[in-house]
Amino acid sequence: MVDYIIVGLGLAGTSFAEQLLAGNKSFVVFDDDSQQSSVVAGGLYNPVILKRFTKVWRAHEQLKKAKPFYARLESKLDMRFDYKVPVYRRFASVEEQNLWFDASDKPLLEDFLSTKIIQKDHSCIEATYGYGEVLGTGRIDTESLVKAYTKYLNSRGLLIREKFNYELLELSENYIEYKDLKAKHIVFCDGFGLKRNPFFNYLPLNGTKGELLTIHAPALKINFVLKSSVFLIPIGEDLYRVGATYEWHDKTNEVTEKARQELLSKMETFIKCDYKVVDQKAGIRPTVTDRRPLVGQHPEHKNLYILNGMGSRGVMIAPDASEQLYQFITHQSELDEDMNIRRFDKKYKSLNQ
Ligand SMILES: Cc1cc2nc3c(=O)[nH]c(=O)nc-3n(C[C@H](O)[C@H](O)[C@H](O)COP(=O)(O)OP(=O)(O)OC[C@H]3O[C@@H](n4cnc5c(N)ncnc54)[C@H](O)[C@@H]3O)c2cc1C
Repeated sequence: MVDYIIVGLGLAGTSFAEQLLAGNKSFVVFDDDSQQSSVVAGGLYNPVILKRFTKVWRAHEQLKKAKPFYARLESKLDMRFDYKVPVYRRFASVEEQNLWFDASDKPLLEDFLSTKIIQKDHSCIEATYGYGEVLGTGRIDTESLVKAYTKYLNSRGLLIREKFNYELLELSENYIEYKDLKAKHIVFCDGFGLKRNPFFNYLPLNGTKGELLTIHAPALKINFVLKSSVFLIPIGEDLYRVGATYEWHDKTNEVTEKARQELLSKMETFIKCDYKVVDQKAGIRPTVTDRRPLVGQHPEHKNLYILNGMGSRGVMIAPDASEQLYQFITHQSELDEDMNIRRFDKKYKSLNQ
């Protein structure tokens, strides 16, 4: 008998496993590499929505949890994941500069938007109207993090690298059984894999495919994340991630020529130097119709829990949401009601009458 089974080892599963280790709980994790979102992510943490200059939901609370969480993981795994790079929003007009100033005056945003306009002469970048700097931003190297954590759990015998077959789960009052395992609780962190999860697929997870390119651009030499019609993220050795696309119909992890062309044509509106595309990746973001995470307990089966729906912001959301779920299970603390799946109870009832 273990305390927990976790299904899925992306950012959500990793964050929840860390809660369990800190709380001295026993567990095993299943993962089959069927979803790629956490591995391909750009990894940015950025408290501001840069299209509209508005604050991200729970930005202060999330950053307060996320920064120490990644710092602890860095020291535990003895690796660097957290690159504290600034994000510069390129302005396309004087109107955009004015909108930025208006926004930076608002009490909720003043901690995050610098009031200086940055002018940088750079032969490769067209930026007549300069940039605004977002404060408190950075990039988590999520690929290295997930891979290192996978290795860490594997070396401790806590990882089962196989597909979790939902049909084989047997439910009892005080525990669940799966093959030869017994556990008090099971937490599904299965990302877009939730679509095949019969216990939670009543929830409105729609999934949004995203693709990213990696380019090699030796003349570019920027040490900040540049946000214009696409993000350009420096990852070292003259390599930059360019992304990402948003596609609502295709739900595969396959890369496409269409996405490559879209990203390059957007990038070429503001970058004027030679580059070579060296990589392209795709994944499905676990996005939800109301843009809030899916966290909580199954409406009928009390041993089943979900930690999902992190959309395009898993880096910031996962540490906060996993802590909330852990406190909810172990100390019956209230979950933030915006993320609690109880908001979909009516839907569950109407489907199960
Ligand atoms: C192109 C792109 C760029 C992005 N950029 C950013 C960014 O800059 N910043 C940011 O915060 N977020 C970004 N995101 C979003 C971020 O990746 C997600 O919010 C986050 O990774 C979701 O994590 P997760 O653990 O919930 O899901 P996933 O990463 O999808 O993990 C789910 C895991 O469950 C496993 N699994 C599923 N079903 C089963 C099963 N039946 N049996 C066993 N294992 C199973 C999968 O193999 C997978 O490992 C981006 C996403 C994409 C696609």
